[in-house]
Amino acid sequence: MKVAVFSSKAYVQEYFQRANQSAGHELVFFEPRLTDLTAPLAEGFPAVCTFVNDILDARILLALSRQGTKLIALRCAGFNQVDLPSAEQLGLTVARVPAYSPHAVAEHTIGLILALCRHLHKAYNRVRDGNFALEGLLGIELHGRTAGVIGTGKIGAIVAKILAGFGCKLLGYDVAKNPEAEAAGLTYVSLEELFSRSDVISLHCPLAPATHHVIGDEALARMKRGAVIVNTSRGALIDTKAAIRALKSGKIGALGLDVYEEEADLFFEDLSNRVIQDDVFSRMLTFPNVIITGHQAFFTDAALTAIAAETLANITAFERNRTPPGLIIAEKVRG
Ligand code: NAD
Repeated sequence: MKVAVFSSKAYVQEYFQRANQSAGHELVFFEPRLTDLTAPLAEGFPAVCTFVNDILDARILLALSRQGTKLIALRCAGFNQVDLPSAEQLGLTVARVPAYSPHAVAEHTIGLILALCRHLHKAYNRVRDGNFALEGLLGIELHGRTAGVIGTGKIGAIVAKILAGFGCKLLGYDVAKNPEAEAAGLTYVSLEELFSRSDVISLHCPLAPATHHVIGDEALARMKRGAVIVNTSRGALIDTKAAIRALKSGKIGALGLDVYEEEADLFFEDLSNRVIQDDVFSRMLTFPNVIITGHQAFFTDAALTAIAAETLANITAFERNRTPPGLIIAEKVRG
């Protein structure tokens, strides 16, 4: 099948070309993101393959549909960026890769927590500068601390298991309980209780209307002073301006982000020679107790291999009139 692959960095092309040796699709790689401006590139392609920051709103879906696209093959797990009701109305099929390597994201999350708790980012720079003073590097031990996991699905459950290994007490909040997380010693509580009792809070729920700005002024007010918050899920789970206020007051002790609510204009590009126009993001960069990575939690060899194989499997199934394994059902989202 002829596939227009958007946001195709060199690493995307490498992994997709390798996986396509057996799948045999006609892949055409476009480096830009899918936007109003670039949508015409997909003219005549029955399948369009996109990533997290490609735009799939009603307007772009309509444009793609008019140009002959039938399948949107997301090469990511989250699908908050897709207007699913519009896709359904247009008769488009949308598939994703629900679980390519939850370990990749879980391990990056733990990396952020450890770096924040032991100031590894500051220590790295200090030592390279010949500064071996310890002032300002006083750490927090995870052993015996209470960790709250919001969203205890595939990634959240692995984070819980790893934190159990550190000797953390585990609290969780989810709309559905996961026995794997409970087996790791996690106790489900209300969101309010999780906020008020946790020393470390890690976000692993999808972005949806119910979870938009789940960490905002109200949640922050309930938290312990000095709470460590990590978000490797989706940027808009955190109200960034509220987080800045809480960082300034000391309510948030440390913040680790792999995602940011306005990341689409920043992440995945080398902007080192440009002036960043986003003042909220720039303010975040000034805090010594904030670590930001640019949506790289998924970025491992195992994950890229699985993403390419499973995205192509979705496309092959669609081409053969079978149900793609990663098919998204619109009813699921409305429910
Ligand atoms: P999953 O579907 O296995 O788990 C999500 C969990 O969130 C489920 O248990 C679900 O019941 C729960 N949930 C749904 N609505 C909720 C709500 N209102 N409140 C609390 N919990 C709720 O998904 P996963 O594979 O564990 O991925 C979790 C998230 O991680 C994805 O939604 C995605 O946005 C993000 N992600 C980020 C990266 C990255 O590179 N940073 C990579 C992959 C996934």
